[in-house]
Order: sequence, then structure tokens, then C-alpha cells
Amino acid sequence: MSALPPVASSLQLETFSPLPAPQIDLTGGAAKFRAMLEAIEKLLILQDRDRHIMHVRAQLGQVEPERAMLHSKAASTQAGFEAAKLRGKQIESEKKRLELDVEAKKTQIEKYANQQLQTRKNEEYKALAHEIETCKGDIARIEDQEIELMEQAEVAAKQVVAAQQAANEAKKIVESQIAEIAAREQNLKKELAQYEADRDKLAAAVDEGTRSRYERLFKNKGGMVIVGVQHGVCGGCHMKLQMQLIVSAQAQQEIVTCSNCGRILYYTRDMDLAVKD
Ligand SMILES: [Zn+2]
Repeated sequence: MSALPPVASSLQLETFSPLPAPQIDLTGGAAKFRAMLEAIEKLLILQDRDRHIMHVRAQLGQVEPERAMLHSKAASTQAGFEAAKLRGKQIESEKKRLELDVEAKKTQIEKYANQQLQTRKNEEYKALAHEIETCKGDIARIEDQEIELMEQAEVAAKQVVAAQQAANEAKKIVESQIAEIAAREQNLKKELAQYEADRDKLAAAVDEGTRSRYERLFKNKGGMVIVGVQHGVCGGCHMKLQMQLIVSAQAQQEIVTCSNCGRILYYTRDMDLAVKD
């Protein structure tokens, strides 16, 4: 997260020498200059506070998606465990079905063998012998399938153990992270409440017209609206300022705004007025 810019601490009345424009009455101009300077200073502090508030709100905005992401992470590892268990059960029931098939074939063979004992017809005897061979072939095929299933069951059992472990671990981690998030959320909310209360006091100290102008700008520009004049450019949009605007910003007799972006301009003595090429 980026550090917020410090409130221009150089904005102290003592550091300024009055720079009245020739046509302005000296006493009135100096008084206006001081008043304007104070207003700008208050706006800078307010802006600093508003940026903090914006920052905290953005962090708070992250809380819910983060929590949802953790819940879904836990849910998906749990689902993986359930799926592995289900697969194991399916293999087990498939194995049982095959065992029953083998039993049925064996019963069938016994039945054919009994029929062979009872018949005197050579043709019938041969036909029954053929049936018995077919059943034995079926049993051999089913037993091959059973072996394959046993191998699959072994793999599935290992997967169940691994999936259960993964689900348990994820649950533990997610629970602790969710607790962390809850604590962070609480702190942020507390911080926000303090900032907001503080902000209300700071805002009340700025005259209403200037404040609503500032607030509109802050909302539209997203956080950086009281900007300095450096190297003859606007500190917000970095466009070159007309000389008249720079002179007005220096004179500080009224709120001066950038003709390009509309941000409120201010000037302090340590700002370099030389235009950079
Ligand atoms: Zn600008």
C-alpha cells in the first residue's frame, strides 16, 4: 500500500512573505492572503484525512471478498474429500456386484453339472458342457475385473486419506485466517470511526462554499485535489499552467483552480516556479 503524502508542513504563515499584486490594496490583500493560506492549510489537512478514510474503506472493502474466498477454499477441499469417499464407495459396491455375479455363475455351473448327471442324451450332455465352459470363461473375466477393481480401491483409499488430510488442514488454516480477518475488520472499523469523527471536526472548520467545492472535486478526482504548483505545472494533472494562474496562486487572494482539471492550486515558497522543459 502506498504511503500517503504528508500534509504540507511548510505551509506556515511565517514562511510566507506577502506577495500582493500591485492593484490590490495592501492591508486587505495581506489579510486575504492569510485567510486564504489558512483555508488551504485546512483543506490540505482535510484532504489528508479524507485520503486516510478512503484508504481504510478500500481495505474494509477487501474484507468480504477475502472471507468469501477462504470459505470457498475450505468448501472445495471438503468437496474433494466427499468426492474421494464417494469414489471409494462406488468401487466397493462394484466389487460386491461382481462377487454376486461370480456366485450366480457358480450356481449356474452346479445346475448344469446336475443336469449332465441326469441326461442320457449325448447331444444334451455336450451342450451342457459347453454352457459350463462359457460360465467358467465368464467367471475368469469377472475375476480379472475384480483384480483391477482391487487396485483401484487401493488407490482410492489413499486418495481418501490424502483428501481428508487436505480438508482438515485447509479447515484449520481457513479458520485461523478468518479469525485474523475478523480482528482486522474490527480494527479498521474502529480506525474509520475515529477518522470520520475527526474528519467532521476538520470539515466544520472550512467555510461551507470552499468545502463543498473541495468535496465535489474529491469525489470526482478520487483523492488528490489540493495540489501544488511545481515547475509551472498543475500537481494533479501535470499540465502546464498559464502564467496568470501561477501568479494568482502565488497571490493567494482567492481559490485558484487548474484550468485543465479543476483541482485547487496552492503555492508555497519552496516550490520551484521555473518551468521544466
Ligand atoms: Zn490540473
